[in-house]
Amino acid sequence: MGTDQDRFRSIRVGISACLLGTEVRYDGGHKRDDVIIEALGRVVEWVPVCPEVEAGFGTPREPMNLVRTEGGLRLITVDTVRDVTEPFDAYAKGRVSQPAFEELSGYVLKKDSPSCGLESVKVYDARGIAEHSGRGRFAAALVERFPGLPVDDESRLADPQVREQFLERVFAYARLKER
Ligand code: SF4
Repeated sequence: MGTDQDRFRSIRVGISACLLGTEVRYDGGHKRDDVIIEALGRVVEWVPVCPEVEAGFGTPREPMNLVRTEGGLRLITVDTVRDVTEPFDAYAKGRVSQPAFEELSGYVLKKDSPSCGLESVKVYDARGIAEHSGRGRFAAALVERFPGLPVDDESRLADPQVREQFLERVFAYARLKER
């Protein structure tokens, strides 16, 4: 018979890999978040994903932005202005449809990323002016596939109360899945 800790550890939560300290960012760095790792990592099993690396863009890589065009919202590289929306979206849709994602009971996303950001991600217009109105394309695919999944970002989860509520939602979601 397992301990409480074993039981919690079997609760899988997806996370943007850079938040765990993995060097997967466009500049070869990471965004390790010690608060998230300490506070949540003790009670859940992380499932790290870097959508941009998995989609084949490599590290380091050219950064990309969300851009509003006549053809809708697109994911476009900053220097060479390559529209990578289609390959990225195809990857994202396929990835969130994999069985491993069915096992998740929550997800911690990296704020502000054009791939992982949950809300208020910069969206540029044709003049290069940005408004904070977008959602990263991987985050969008995730939320569309699992509308009830507890999802939040590291910025909001820095607040102990928000973190506590997030964990409660994760545990409740995991219990529901067991039925
Ligand atoms: Fe990768 Fe997402 Fe982190 Fe960007 S924000 S480095 S895509 S995990």
